[in-house]
Amino acid sequence: MKSVSSFRYEEVEGFRFGYSPVGKPKLLVYIYFIDGLLIDTGQRQMQKDIIETLKPLPVQQIFITHHHEDHTGNLAELQRQFDCAVLSSKLCSKMMEAPPKISFAQQLVWGDRPAYKGFEIQESSIAINQFKFEIIPIPGHAADMVALYEPNKKWLFSADLFINTYIAYFLENESIVDQINSIKTVLKLDFEVMFCAHKPILENGKGKLHKKLNFLLDFYEQVAELHQKGFAPKQIFKKLQLQEDWFTRLLSGGALSKMNMVKSAIRDFEVGKEIKY
Ligand SMILES: [Zn+2]
Repeated sequence: MKSVSSFRYEEVEGFRFGYSPVGKPKLLVYIYFIDGLLIDTGQRQMQKDIIETLKPLPVQQIFITHHHEDHTGNLAELQRQFDCAVLSSKLCSKMMEAPPKISFAQQLVWGDRPAYKGFEIQESSIAINQFKFEIIPIPGHAADMVALYEPNKKWLFSADLFINTYIAYFLENESIVDQINSIKTVLKLDFEVMFCAHKPILENGKGKLHKKLNFLLDFYEQVAELHQKGFAPKQIFKKLQLQEDWFTRLLSGGALSKMNMVKSAIRDFEVGKEIKY
């Protein structure tokens, strides 16, 4: 099933694209447009709809928040359509030279994306007509992920830092401690609205992000404690009464799972990653 809709908040336009091979889409993807700037390019499975919907926009620049396939799925096509510069961080540009392979589940839901070269590297800020955005590195969910912060408007374009207050699964290489630290960094900023790439939070963005921080901190501390006591990942899973979404785990060949969250906590603990205070 496909779905397309849009909304407006102050000078921000949000375009929502949903796709699922069966039933209603579980996770929706938002592309934002502000005053000439397009943030991310959506999933390839919605390519036709995305190109048609965005066609009338006067896009002058495209900014990519991170290399994941639901953000970069239509990059080349939209760049061609608008004949504009594509900006990203150095690490994102590097990762997009040969993007990591995705699982069957991700292929099915989002669709893959080809390699892309030709980014204009931007690490500190981007200016577009009336607005200036600070680029804030927020690694964890992806090593190259950044947020865009507009201090005058108190807007935060948070990429996939939030997604939800509670998280059901991780990708294999996500870092829970980096995510915790990135949330802490962002919570120091003075923002009100959080334009999440999967769920915009137009009120009390900070409160929602605080909730997620507490959830991740609790999860990390509980796993680290049991790990120190000598319990194996499977035993920790049982002891914490965690539930696996087996459909997602099996379909993704293990690329997406709650067990990945447990393993991420153990890995971060073992390498001595520290939580910022
Ligand atoms: Zn992502």
